[in-house]
Amino acid sequence: MIKKRPCKICGRWFRASNREGDRQRTCTRRECQRERHRRNCKQWRERNRYLEKEGRVRDRLIKEGGGGAVRLKVDLEAVRDSVGPEQAVLIEEIVKVLNAGARDSDLPERPKKKK
Ligand SMILES: [Zn+2]
Repeated sequence: MIKKRPCKICGRWFRASNREGDRQRTCTRRECQRERHRRNCKQWRERNRYLEKEGRVRDRLIKEGGGGAVRLKVDLEAVRDSVGPEQAVLIEEIVKVLNAGARDSDLPERPKKKK
């Protein structure tokens, strides 16, 4: 049996839905649902703040080229400023290898051998 409990947001007592059961902490009022959603989003952003930071760094350093296959265009000066000269060289070499791979995948498919 599901007991009544106070809403974590408005404090009003409510009966949890059968589907949610013990997990439901918020009543079904629109304002409370909206606030619950806002709080969950805020918590998610705080837990995943690193994603935002990574995204900003990525935007600063990398631009995708046009054309069929994806080519990486990296602002190597910005990379050097960001990680230092040794890592920048490593990154530059990795980008070369990736872009060479992208170039190869641009080649038209070879005709299949006839049996
Ligand atoms: Zn409520």
